[in-house]
Amino acid sequence: MKKREKSAACPCGSGLLLSVCCAPRLAGERAAETAEALMRSRYTAYAIGDEAYLLASWHPSTRPDSLDLAADPVKWVGLSIESCTDGQAADSTGRVRFVARYKAGGRAGRLAEDSSFVREDGRWYYVDGEVA
Ligand SMILES: [Zn+2]
Repeated sequence: MKKREKSAACPCGSGLLLSVCCAPRLAGERAAETAEALMRSRYTAYAIGDEAYLLASWHPSTRPDSLDLAADPVKWVGLSIESCTDGQAADSTGRVRFVARYKAGGRAGRLAEDSSFVREDGRWYYVDGEVA
């Protein structure tokens, strides 16, 4: 990650700097404590093109073999967390409903998804999502 990115506002919309919000998660320095924190860090990974982190935080049962974000260029421009069900530090499953806004080919779009997460060995993983 470039220095300039780290001192910018975090793409996940937390209001914090990237350097103290999602960057330590992407770097493997700090695990996501909650499903929402993992969801936010994965959004940030999409926004800055961190394929390795997306794969590492994907549950092995549903994880694709590889990702190629460059093949389908999308600029992610905003995230709103609509609701969270469970997904706290002591839970083993969680759901997060969110809306992500993007621009692709000069057009604006939005993705509304209800994502499910599991916690195994103290780590949260993304399992899958339904378009909400
Ligand atoms: Zn963040």
